[in-house]
Amino acid sequence: MKKLFIPFLLLIFLAGNTFSQKEKNEKSYITIADSIVKTAMTDQKGYAILGDLCKIGPRLSGSENSLKAIEWAMAKMISLGFDSVWLQPVMVPHWERGKTESAVIVSSNKFKNKKLAIAAFGGSVGTDLSKGITAKVIEIHSWAELTTKKQEVKDKIVFFNVPFDNSFPTSFPAYGKNVGYRVQGASEAAKHGAKGMILRSITSKNDNVPHVGVLHYTDSIPQVPAVAIGITDADFLSNALKKEPELKLQLKLSCKTLPEAQSYNVIGEMKGTEFPDQVIVIGGHFDSWDKGDGAHDDAAGCVQSMEVLDLFKRLQIKPKRTIRCVFFINEENGSRGGIAYGEFAAASKEKHLTAIESDRGAFTPQGFAVDKDSASFLKIGSWKNILERAGISWVKQGGSGVDVSYIKNAKCLIGYVPDSQRYFDYHHSANDIFTEVNPREFELGSAAMTVLVFLIDREGL
Ligand SMILES: [Zn+2]
Repeated sequence: MKKLFIPFLLLIFLAGNTFSQKEKNEKSYITIADSIVKTAMTDQKGYAILGDLCKIGPRLSGSENSLKAIEWAMAKMISLGFDSVWLQPVMVPHWERGKTESAVIVSSNKFKNKKLAIAAFGGSVGTDLSKGITAKVIEIHSWAELTTKKQEVKDKIVFFNVPFDNSFPTSFPAYGKNVGYRVQGASEAAKHGAKGMILRSITSKNDNVPHVGVLHYTDSIPQVPAVAIGITDADFLSNALKKEPELKLQLKLSCKTLPEAQSYNVIGEMKGTEFPDQVIVIGGHFDSWDKGDGAHDDAAGCVQSMEVLDLFKRLQIKPKRTIRCVFFINEENGSRGGIAYGEFAAASKEKHLTAIESDRGAFTPQGFAVDKDSASFLKIGSWKNILERAGISWVKQGGSGVDVSYIKNAKCLIGYVPDSQRYFDYHHSANDIFTEVNPREFELGSAAMTVLVFLIDREGL
């Protein structure tokens, strides 16, 4: 009896001790989380940095502006006092919109000379600039309808008029439902002899601003020009076609694909004091579309990631593990930056504990989406009381992010998930500018990401 009794007492003592230690840690972590939130929200330093970055303008891969921004980012990381800052060279696709972009109704009684708000999709071929292409328009509402009407498509411009599905409680499924038309619509239409493709903008906002994004041409199918049309003009065109189905549209586009260009990922880090070979990556993508400033998509994610390291500095927290901020280039039309960093990580002797991505706009924090490692998922979930100090209310499995997905040897991948309701009001359009970023939402996001990185740094995964 005695022999059993003593270990049993010891177990109770140890359990009690561990419990109180855990409680003690949680208390001190909550204090630190609160000071992270307070500092981010009060200083609004990251928000000011975002404003500076957005002054440079859009950062389409391969553009002169993107190189200016890369130089700016490197100088900024150096000025913030990171331990090392470097550029990782990456070759990127180089597509240019050029100056001409027009869609005009040329043959119709009522609607003649009506100009429509359009913008070419990234990667689209251009047209002859004096004549353009002129064709009748056929309105299509689904892939199934395209198949049914395939005989009628020849020599016409296919107008995919597929509304944003507002029946979902969050906006990403609605985007996911329609994005295939943007990516494959041109080739699917050209397969049946279409001369061009117009897509109703994939957006939750009812304005007339076209929302762009990348398209992919299928080899062996002729490449035809493809554009987004603003919502107001999509409705206008649909109504006009009901009244005059024979009307013709003239498209003129100067866009073209140039040879691949030299570009870079921008990387900055703070070395870990105890486990320097254990790396926590945090980042966003630095390229943007060429409309607006790419403020939400994804200057915000990049600057928030940079602010994570800067908040450690401002609060004089010395990381135990290495915290590395990566600005991935070319997520929008090639993912070359993500691929290149993934290759670097695979060849490196370091251990990538996790990679966290912020690429869903600078809106109010909601949760973290965790991929790959279920033990890490459970551990992060156990920090709920601490994370909620920065507005995080859930930790779910799945959906980390595009760029980090290439870091195959990371133990766990995480996506920062803010509120999604307004993201597609801005996404890939001229609406995506700095003044549309709310400083409190932006800074609470920086704080949420910093609290998570702090916990992973202290507790490991
Ligand atoms: Zn993005």
